[in-house]
Amino acid sequence: MRIVDIRETAIPLKSNIANSSFDFSEMTTSVVAVITDVMRSGKPVCGFAFNSTGRYACGAQMRARFIPRILAADPGSLLDARGDNLDPEKILAVMMKREKAGGHSERSIAIGTIEVAVWDAVAKIADKPLHVLLAERFGGGQVPDKMFCYVGGGWYWPGQTIRDLQDEMRRHLAAGYTLVKMKVGGLPLEDDLHRLEAVLEVVGSGDRLAVDANCKFDRAEALRYAHALAPFKLRWFEEPCDPLDFALFAELASVYDAPLATGENLYSTQDVENLVTFGGFRPSKDVIQIDPPQAYGIVQYARTLAVLERRGWPRSALFPHGGNQMSLAIAAGFGLGGAESYPGVFGIFGGFADDAVVADGAIALSGRPGIGFEGQAALYRIMRDLAGL
Ligand code: MG
Repeated sequence: MRIVDIRETAIPLKSNIANSSFDFSEMTTSVVAVITDVMRSGKPVCGFAFNSTGRYACGAQMRARFIPRILAADPGSLLDARGDNLDPEKILAVMMKREKAGGHSERSIAIGTIEVAVWDAVAKIADKPLHVLLAERFGGGQVPDKMFCYVGGGWYWPGQTIRDLQDEMRRHLAAGYTLVKMKVGGLPLEDDLHRLEAVLEVVGSGDRLAVDANCKFDRAEALRYAHALAPFKLRWFEEPCDPLDFALFAELASVYDAPLATGENLYSTQDVENLVTFGGFRPSKDVIQIDPPQAYGIVQYARTLAVLERRGWPRSALFPHGGNQMSLAIAAGFGLGGAESYPGVFGIFGGFADDAVVADGAIALSGRPGIGFEGQAALYRIMRDLAGL
């Protein structure tokens, strides 16, 4: 058993939405195919992934370093102890050869995307959905049949009215979601508060609404927003400031009683440990949103989780960023608090299987082997072509 090829291609997201800090008009993502020599129904088993959303395609690093390292390794050295499947931990170690400490995001997204594609192949070789395989290895064997899921929505669109925003939120509730998130920081505070109050009219209460500032604010503005948002008792206030400004996070946590959230822009276990050590993050209420394919993948995610658990963090405090089937399978497999969903944005890269059903805020999990991209027709077409299937 061996990996015979790893291919990648950059695909534009074709999105005209914006958050407080940037628009997505140039956004791309890397799609990866890990092709094995294991045959099923006359075709090679292939693992797929893409580097989630919000970070650009990273094929250069993959082509220059990580793909050649895997393909040059002795195939037997990449197998698990029984020799009947690939071992993602060993493959991660091969990709990390000759890599200097620190400087994580230069490589964590490229490595994590390949690593998650390896897991897709591993689960297919084992003939199990990825969330089932992860539940057996990391979740104490408890396999859920659905996963809590919230909508990462409320973006700033060109020409958008308050009524448009309310209609969007009504659509999410009608689709079965119970928790929605909206962007803040793209307009002056007074205008953002009008948007927020309009959305609260639709969703009913603050515990059904989170807000995301996408790292926009300096100290004065972050404190101003925290003061203004506090009375609404929102589900969480996400990324008020620079993701590495742990001093400001700690200050916010000391004055803002409702939950804070961050993590989608932290790429290493050490960064997450620094957040909970120096950022004042509270295990009893705050939310951590690491995006596994952007942060070295699933093996490293398990290591980060172990660090957090030693510090008293419950798994229910983790909501992986991403809004895709990779994060959904990881949230379900590890028994986390929930997953994100991006209905209607990011084109073929947003959303779940075409036949996925949302009810009472939870999404039914797929029985397809692997991550389940085969159930997303438009996205799978790109993956299948990349692998030459
Ligand atoms: Mg966010």
